[in-house]
Order: sequence, then structure tokens, then C-alpha cells
Amino acid sequence: MIYPWQQTQWLQISQLIKVERLPHAMLLLGNQGLGKTDFASSMAHAVLCQQPAADFKACGLCKSCQLLFADTHPDLYHLKPAAPPTSKSKNPVLSIRIDDIRVLCNKLNQTSQYGGYRVAIIDQAELLTISAANSLLKTLEEPGQDVLILLTTSRPHRLPVTIRSRCQVLRFTEPDEKQALDWLQTSQQDEQTSVNQLQQALKHAHGSPLAALIHLQEEERHQILAEAMTAAVSGKNTLDYAAKLAKFAKIQTLESMLGWASDLTRLLSCGPDATISNELHRIKLQAIAKKVDQQRVFRFHDQINFNLLHSSIAVNEQLLWENLLLSWDNL
Ligand SMILES: [Zn+2]
Repeated sequence: MIYPWQQTQWLQISQLIKVERLPHAMLLLGNQGLGKTDFASSMAHAVLCQQPAADFKACGLCKSCQLLFADTHPDLYHLKPAAPPTSKSKNPVLSIRIDDIRVLCNKLNQTSQYGGYRVAIIDQAELLTISAANSLLKTLEEPGQDVLILLTTSRPHRLPVTIRSRCQVLRFTEPDEKQALDWLQTSQQDEQTSVNQLQQALKHAHGSPLAALIHLQEEERHQILAEAMTAAVSGKNTLDYAAKLAKFAKIQTLESMLGWASDLTRLLSCGPDATISNELHRIKLQAIAKKVDQQRVFRFHDQINFNLLHSSIAVNEQLLWENLLLSWDNL
């Protein structure tokens, strides 16, 4: 995906592809939320596509493009920071480790499966460990024929100078407000959002449109969940919200729902003035607290935790929310 504010950079890249002067390593640099990874993917698609368009964008139809869309192209490797394999922490320290870089470099040294480029995208390259960075350095110095290594970062000063100096830098900057607002208006699903709300979200995201979009979606998710959890006391049908909740990220919504359950537990054990996280909805939560059974609230906690624990298993999400909302209504 090439965003409207990336047109200049795309022109630059398509010129380099045209004259066959694409460097073997590039550092895509700019603040978070500007779509650097999407741009890197578009570059990868462009060089791997078997019949690119006149502007060098991928055709979307050839065998290579089909493999790219299915995320199974054997000549594209995408590395992202990850938790250590043995970590059980809820908030582990993410990094890109030497073992992963070794595997990546081995693949880049092999012949390409489709007779063209081999491409590596390394996201948040500032999170390379020192040994991983040193290991990558060798490949950056002698990359071999038709290798393209794309690193993205929003914190270039944290990257070793040795890595930076071997990459051609491609900078991304925030679009002007009008362009960002136009894009936000067409991208976000909630048509009732006012221009003022879009401006606020953009300000909150320091001008990065993708970060603003995430912020808007978060706000919408919190609002819909609040409506669902207070539907019964507002005289509405709780189950009507299952389909609405199904369109949001499952894990985050489950965690927010756990917050509602915890608020209820606090009101039950510490009284109506207990500190709660959904302060805006205190009166409705107090009304719910008056009629619930504490054991059932505990079981509701367990039900959410069970779903969080098994969140990687694909389920019918509407059914999942219907079950949880039904439990909430019957506490
Ligand atoms: Zn293609």
C-alpha cells in the first residue's frame, strides 16, 4: 500500500527500479504511524512481481503476486521484533535476535526460488541486538546479486552507525493536516466522527495518520463496549452488540471487558465509592452491582480469562461475544 503522503518516495523508488539502480539495502526512516512497513512491502511486491505496471507497482495477478498476497512467497522474508522463545512475561522485552538474522542471511545467500530478487524486510531495526546487528553487517557488506534488504525504524539513533552507513536512507514525514484529514475521513468506518474528532486524533498521534486511525478505532471500541455492558440497565438489548464487538480486535476487547468485570468486583467488595477504571459509567455499574451474584462475577472473570488464554484459536467471534454478553446479563 502506498499512502497519499508517500507519493514522492514512491516516485523516487520507481525511478531507481526503472534505471536498475535500486540499492541493495535501504533504511526507511520516520515516525511511527506513517506506513513505512506497508511501503517496504510495496517495494518488495514491486521487485518480485513478474509483470509490474508502468509505475512499477505489483500487478496483483501473476503467480508471484498471488504468493505474496497469501504471505507464502519463498523469496520474501519478513522479520519483526519478538519475545525470547522462553519468555512467559506478559510484557516481554522485544528484540530481533542473532539466530533469526543468521537464518535470514542464509536464505538471502541461497539462489532465489523464482529466479529474481530475494527480499528481506526487517521491522523496527533499532531492536536488533548487538550480536544480531553484527551478524547482519556481513550480509550488508556483501549482499550478493539481486538482494534487497529493507530496514524500517523510527529511532535511527539507536541503530549502530555501521548499519546506518551501509543503507541508503529513505525519509518519511507527516503529511499536511488537510491530506491527513482527507485520508482519515475515507479510511475510518464510523461515519459519525466529526472533523473536530479527527483533528483531535491526529493531534494525539503527532500528525501520523495511521496512529490517528488506531486511536479513533480504540475510542470507538471503548464506546461500543461501554454501550454493550450498560445496555440492560439502559433498557436496551445487550445481545444486539455482539456483531458490533466482533469487528474489533479480540484480545484488546476481551481485556477491556475484563476491566468491566474487575470494576464490578471492586464495587461489590469495597462499596459504591470504590476506585474503578470505567469511572464515566459508575452510576450504571453501581446499578448492576446491586443485583448480581458475586460467585457468578468470579465465574465471568474465569470465562474471559479462558478466552484470553485460548485467543490464538480461531472461533466464531459473534458467537463468542454473544456467550460473554449473555453471561454478563445473567450475573
Ligand atoms: Zn504480479
